[in-house]
Amino acid sequence: MASQNVMDKVVSLCKRRGFVFQSSEIYGGLASIWDYGPLGIALKNNLANYWWREMTQLHDNIVGLDASILMHPQVWKASGHVDGFVDPLVDCKNCKARFKAQDLIKQWKNKKKLAAISDGEIEEGREGDLTELGKVRWQEAACPSCGTSGNLTSPRLFNLMLKTFLGPVEESAAVVYLRPETAQGIYVNYLNVLNTSRMKLPFGIAQIGKAFRNEITPGNFIFRTREFEQMEMQFFVRPEEGTEWLAKWRDKRFEYYKKLGIREEKLRLHQHTPQELAHYAEDAYDIEYEFPFGWQEIEGIHNRTSFDLKRHQEFSGKELSYMDEESKERFTPFIIETSSGLNRTLLTCLVDGYYEDTQDGEARTVLRLSPAIAPIKAGVFSLVKKDGLPEIADQLANDLRRVGTVFTDHSGSIGRRYRRMDEVGTPWGITVDYQTKEDLTVTLRDRDSLEQSRVTIAELPAMIAAKIASA
Ligand code: ATP
Repeated sequence: MASQNVMDKVVSLCKRRGFVFQSSEIYGGLASIWDYGPLGIALKNNLANYWWREMTQLHDNIVGLDASILMHPQVWKASGHVDGFVDPLVDCKNCKARFKAQDLIKQWKNKKKLAAISDGEIEEGREGDLTELGKVRWQEAACPSCGTSGNLTSPRLFNLMLKTFLGPVEESAAVVYLRPETAQGIYVNYLNVLNTSRMKLPFGIAQIGKAFRNEITPGNFIFRTREFEQMEMQFFVRPEEGTEWLAKWRDKRFEYYKKLGIREEKLRLHQHTPQELAHYAEDAYDIEYEFPFGWQEIEGIHNRTSFDLKRHQEFSGKELSYMDEESKERFTPFIIETSSGLNRTLLTCLVDGYYEDTQDGEARTVLRLSPAIAPIKAGVFSLVKKDGLPEIADQLANDLRRVGTVFTDHSGSIGRRYRRMDEVGTPWGITVDYQTKEDLTVTLRDRDSLEQSRVTIAELPAMIAAKIASA
């Protein structure tokens, strides 16, 4: 299957089966903003719970937090976002298309056109450097969208934070920002957590929540949006242990995606070059996935050093260092951050799990989602809609509901009912037939192997629970 095709098919499946809808669709939609339907929110919640369990429950030294989206405006001055969270933009005066200047440079470099429009002094590997932008003769360059020359503006800085006003008066004193990352909520609560939960280094604080960025080039469905959710964990360590913990978390997080069922050959690590490093980072890795539109970051793992705590200490005047009880040393911890996108992980699971094949002469679409995150765990069917079989199936479905979400459907061909469940990633199909009345067994069908076995009704709930737990 051509890869762009997969993207189109996933988007259409999402809409058709109620995973993702366009926001405010009856009004024509709001660009690049999406709503999650019944199956979408089930998948998203399962993914969030999976991450939460992996990052908090399974560690005795990581605790959770839920900080507000709105924070004191000083937070964003201290974090560097007010000054640093900017992307230089170029507009086309003819077709009104808008580009990230660095994206254009990348494109031109790929096509080796840059020499023709600049004075040819751009060194390799200096992509993304602001000084490089000044070397391009933007006004002479061609717009990649409409193709006309002489219509591009010079790059202008654009702050990616969304602003709003607190209180009834829209004045500058009332400006607050919608947080562009969840991390700062953790840093400003570091002392609260330390004092209330008696944590000792190394320890972590995990959080899942919304973040907002006025992205210049949102797109690729839910891959890059202006409203999204992050799953972040900030791990506080002794400064000399920063490098070691960065490597540990990088490897752990890479394994996590494999455990989630993502194909290993579609995953890779990318270490940031010095030019790519964010202002706060000493060293960083991206975990990348090969989407139909190319290799892209799904999670960032950063050694943020003591930058954030020191800046908040400076701006707030509050002491944010750490006292080591044993050695009696006082120092500011380093922070290792693992930052992943919930919506982006969801898209990764959908794209990676999408397959088409033929079963019994019928075309089948299947989402190979891990049972741990599948929105529906089992479809429970009665072979025919009579002779007491639906009642047995309903009773079984009720017993299974304690284990996970199940779906019942008692009409239509059994093959069609299985296929409708395959398409939304349901791992098991369970069918009640006439034999059930005799020996209390049902057919259990596996979505991926298509194997069918007879299982007793009595053992089924524990069996399904065990399969989900081991996924
Ligand atoms: P990108 O280079 O893709 O813009 P970034 O380097 O700005 O990402 P981080 O600030 O490291 O991303 O954010 C961590 C994670 O948050 C990303 O790996 C991604 O999964 C998610 N994320 C960031 N921006 C968006 C967005 N606009 N839409 C959806 N998810 C996002």
